[in-house]
Amino acid sequence: MIGGGIAGISAAAHLSAHGAVTLLEMEASLAYHTSGRSAAMLVENYGSDGARPLVKAARPFLESPPPGSVDNPLLSDRAVMWVSGPGTLATLEERYTEARERGAACKLLAPAEVVEQVPVVRQDWLEGGLYEPSGADIDVAGLHQAFVRIARDHDAEILTSSPVTRIDRDGEGWLIQSGDRALRARTMVNAAGAWGDHIAVMAGVDPIGLQPMRRTAFMVPGSEQSSAWPMVVEARERFYFRPDGIQFLCSLAEEVPSEPTDARPRMEDVALAIQRINDATTFDIRAVNSQWAGLRTFAPDRELVIGEDPTSPGFHWLVGQGGIGIQTSPAYGRLLASLATGAELPGHFAEVGVDPERTSPARFRVR
Ligand SMILES: Cc1cc2nc3c(=O)[nH]c(=O)nc-3n(C[C@H](O)[C@H](O)[C@H](O)COP(=O)(O)OP(=O)(O)OC[C@H]3O[C@@H](n4cnc5c(N)ncnc54)[C@H](O)[C@@H]3O)c2cc1C
Repeated sequence: MIGGGIAGISAAAHLSAHGAVTLLEMEASLAYHTSGRSAAMLVENYGSDGARPLVKAARPFLESPPPGSVDNPLLSDRAVMWVSGPGTLATLEERYTEARERGAACKLLAPAEVVEQVPVVRQDWLEGGLYEPSGADIDVAGLHQAFVRIARDHDAEILTSSPVTRIDRDGEGWLIQSGDRALRARTMVNAAGAWGDHIAVMAGVDPIGLQPMRRTAFMVPGSEQSSAWPMVVEARERFYFRPDGIQFLCSLAEEVPSEPTDARPRMEDVALAIQRINDATTFDIRAVNSQWAGLRTFAPDRELVIGEDPTSPGFHWLVGQGGIGIQTSPAYGRLLASLATGAELPGHFAEVGVDPERTSPARFRVR
């Protein structure tokens, strides 16, 4: 397993029941990159067509994690309120129609009804709201740790400060070099996030054109009174904010192409987000408590890439999670394990419409 973000550790947890697993993470700590930098939300009505069923398939794990894997619940209710400002009501209505077609529970609200729930939004700025009650805050550290516990219970080896620097074919398997260590593996899983194509090239596998996109987030002061408010997302995703304890987590919700790197926030992105949020609300944000940036990595068609590369037996992809890699992690880890071992998927995967073909890397290969 290459990569110790949420993707790699979820797959390690699910695969370790089937055989010996070693996870290699280049950084000194797990989840140092994108997985440690998310907004920690579950939003059902979000992401690509192939990803939405995975959110539903992930729910049972998130709501009732395996006994002993967590100390506290992983989810706490947090509704989502899409808001439309001047001239954007049509976008909100499109979102509503799309959500209804997909069977999502949601409701259109008049400006006054939005303000009742989120008193900080300016009624004179608002054209309407779309309320989705089914969202949740995710305890990301708790979820990541749950996967670590499950993997370790099955004797998986988890190695940090272990960058993979060379990959060679070794009979039907792989010889993987990390520092002084050389590991032999029958099956390799590429869960290297923004570096996914680099790992492929290292292994002599064609890249699939992954594109990391930078997104900035920051914390501003809030209050205990606001801690139960919904997450507020502008209809065209030009900003969002949500309560986080007695602070607010805010973002410009931008997508700026980037190389795989240790992403850093840009002052101008934080400033623009503050300007947009201040225009739409009575916040009057003047101070930022902390700020960061992370890379959301997308495949060319913005669907996840899960499973064995048809051109390279034993090379499994687990990349392209974009902006939904936390909320779907229990599902894609399970799907990857099932594809790699032939183990049956739980019945509810098919019921909610998970289609392994849709996320297969085979779609990028000439048939
Ligand atoms: C601002 C922001 C907000 C977000 N909000 C949400 C949200 O609310 N809900 C949600 O579900 N998702 C959200 N996401 C998306 C989510 O964080 C990602 O989809 C997810 O973290 C991707 O996980 P990953 O394991 O693929 O990537 P990463 O966490 O980046 O893990 C990849 C790992 O591979 C390692 N690696 C790379 N190369 C090598 C090598 N050669 N050898 C060894 N290790 C290597 C890296 O060090 C890294 O740790 C958000 C993202 C951002 C940036």
